[in-house]
Amino acid sequence: MDCYILLGLARGASPAEIKRAYRRLARRYHPDINPGDRESEAFFRQIVSAYETLIDPGRRREYDAGMIRSTDRATEPAFEFQGFDFSQNLGFRDAATVNELFAEVFTPPAGAWTRPEDGADLHANLTISFGDAMAGGERRVTVTRLERCTACRGGGQLKAPDAMCPHCTGTGSVRWTRHHMVFTKNCAPCAGTGRQQSRACPACAGEGVSVRSEAVPVQIPAGVADGARLRIPGKGHVGRRAGRPGDLHVAITVEPHPLFHREGDDLRVVVPVAIHEAALGAKIDVPTIDGPARLRMPPGTQSGQRLRLRDRGAPSPRDGTRGDLIVEVKLVLPRVIDERSKELLREFGRINAENVRKNLGV
Ligand SMILES: [Zn+2]
Ligand SMILES: [Zn+2]
Repeated sequence: MDCYILLGLARGASPAEIKRAYRRLARRYHPDINPGDRESEAFFRQIVSAYETLIDPGRRREYDAGMIRSTDRATEPAFEFQGFDFSQNLGFRDAATVNELFAEVFTPPAGAWTRPEDGADLHANLTISFGDAMAGGERRVTVTRLERCTACRGGGQLKAPDAMCPHCTGTGSVRWTRHHMVFTKNCAPCAGTGRQQSRACPACAGEGVSVRSEAVPVQIPAGVADGARLRIPGKGHVGRRAGRPGDLHVAITVEPHPLFHREGDDLRVVVPVAIHEAALGAKIDVPTIDGPARLRMPPGTQSGQRLRLRDRGAPSPRDGTRGDLIVEVKLVLPRVIDERSKELLREFGRINAENVRKNLGV
């Protein structure tokens, strides 16, 4: 890169003109004005290097004699700034940022040579019965997902017969003129070779993906709870241009059961009990998710009391251990219609005369 062209100076420019040119360019391309813009930073380094070469009389003499180069090759950006072209009388606009100015140089055209993209996650809902939630098993969720294009196997490109690159007409580099500045850059589609190496896949327009409906198998762990979310890795949208696929997230809804209510991994069931069973104690049959089970009820069981059947609750989806079945006793009074029952209850009352409301102070 020629120091004079870079700074927009004539060969015989005076030190004052060199300083003025440097200040003018620094105001526009200083990294502090364009934070995070690596290209303008690299360009600014070239400007600094050119300025330092020309402002030092000794170095300038050496440079003019062709003994030194101004720019450090290692820090040069991927494009090369070719200098100012004042044949176009556009004038500098102070509002023009480096990003605007360089947009054509640094924004690659949409197409095959841009980088792969990660695929997006997909979300689906699945409603299952209470019994299926307890048993677990495989279900299928139908989703419409971006799949890898089969024609190009996701790469978006097909091998092309050897031919001239149409983007650079075989030269291997592309030229831009923006305002007064002229740039050249390696032609990206052919990587500077000037030959066409591949073409965009016509089936997917170079995106590497196609839309497909798919029934994805979902393994439901036994004991899955209502509101649980299952993640199926890699079953989201596939990434463009062979990028990493996203995940499928399945939100589980478990239908309520008429008898069992879930409390953590425990299940609760309300069981009606006759008055004599509660008073005298009894062995009663209670429903569980595995079928009827025998429960021993101690004498003097109160209405609303909770009894526990170990390991008869829901399986834990984490470790497979089971919660308990909580049996909530509900006392059911008989419909007393016959004289004999009434007589027995009166006698029962006489024998058990204790005031059951004594704690209420009445
Ligand atoms: Zn394709
Ligand atoms: Zn090319």
